Amino acid sequence: MTEASGDVRLTGISKTYGSFTAVHPLDLTVPQGSFYALLGASGCGKTTTLRMIAGLEEPSSGTVCLGEQDVTALPPYKRPVNTVFQSYALFPHLDIFENVAFGLRRRGIKSVKKQVGDMLDLVQLGEQARKKPHQLSGGQQQRVAVARALINHPKVLLLDEPLGALDLKLRRQMQLELKRIQTEVGITFVHVTHDQEEAMTMADTVAVMNGGRVEQQGAPAELYENPRTTFVANFLGTSNFIAAEVDSVSGDDVVLRAGDGKLLLPKARCGAATSPGGKVLLGVRPEKITLTHADDAGTVPDGRNRITGRVVASSFIGVSTQYVIERPLCDAFEVYAQNIERDTRLTPGADVVLHWNPAHTFGLDAGQDVQ
Ligand code: ATP
Repeated sequence: MTEASGDVRLTGISKTYGSFTAVHPLDLTVPQGSFYALLGASGCGKTTTLRMIAGLEEPSSGTVCLGEQDVTALPPYKRPVNTVFQSYALFPHLDIFENVAFGLRRRGIKSVKKQVGDMLDLVQLGEQARKKPHQLSGGQQQRVAVARALINHPKVLLLDEPLGALDLKLRRQMQLELKRIQTEVGITFVHVTHDQEEAMTMADTVAVMNGGRVEQQGAPAELYENPRTTFVANFLGTSNFIAAEVDSVSGDDVVLRAGDGKLLLPKARCGAATSPGGKVLLGVRPEKITLTHADDAGTVPDGRNRITGRVVASSFIGVSTQYVIERPLCDAFEVYAQNIERDTRLTPGADVVLHWNPAHTFGLDAGQDVQ
């Protein structure tokens, strides 16, 4: 028999419930030892996908392979996979040591002290071994659940919103903690979350799901800086979309017309057709835009894309100030910008120049709806 490994390969996997398709046929590969996040809003099919890997849900079509081994027909307990759920599901009457030892004892292993001790050290709960679950904090209980799931050395650990029940501060700590544990044990983690920050903090690769499909997958920075759809752009943070039309192509840049001005977009970052007259949505993240008061427009360096606007609102959020800008001379939509420098003149009503490095933009096909 071929050996299972921590490579997860889904081929044409789908799930339908009656006439409803929860997961459309999808192909997905998770390399051995990587931290992979399935990210999407409630109901997009991420848990169903995870459960098909675990064997808890039977696919309507397609195959699940772990390395070279096709495990599609195997029941969950025969797959070298374990799952951590949002509800920690610890045994309340057993202490932490026995909760973690459970999987070993069930396999008839008698001498468990060293293995359980090492695992408790890994999740930094060595001192808590004799406490009962209710004596631990939510974050500590979740770490026990992780230790318990890892004790039998699965090839793949599946995590279904494991941090969903924790408050924000604890969740952030646990994100780093889970990443550290994954790096230390070196096995494949597949993590389901609806929280983009969480996915981006922990994962090597993020797959953004929407309506039962993977809309885009890639490294967090790649998805953030080069989203291919408005859905992905918006799901991973605030985006400004400027409706523009292709004027020409000049060297490595597409020259766009937007309202009264011309804007550059590197050809390599344009996901739309570049023939003259083509419609493009130019995307710019707020933190890439600098605001300069109109009186200082002459100080804006050459080579930057620039548009004019008027401040509608501003709010100080500590590290930076966020602005809403109207573009009354153009198409009057709002632009969100973020400035680190606090220019006290940038109050509502002030005329400003918004400018940014053309490399910090992405171009999308304007045929799609802005979601
Ligand atoms: P959440 O974050 O809310 O768990 P999700 O992205 O994980 O959402 P799934 O749980 O995978 O979404 O569900 C995808 C879709 O399939 C949802 O519309 C859900 O209502 C539907 N669904 C899931 N399980 C069943 C079932 N057993 N019978 C019918 N429909 C189901």
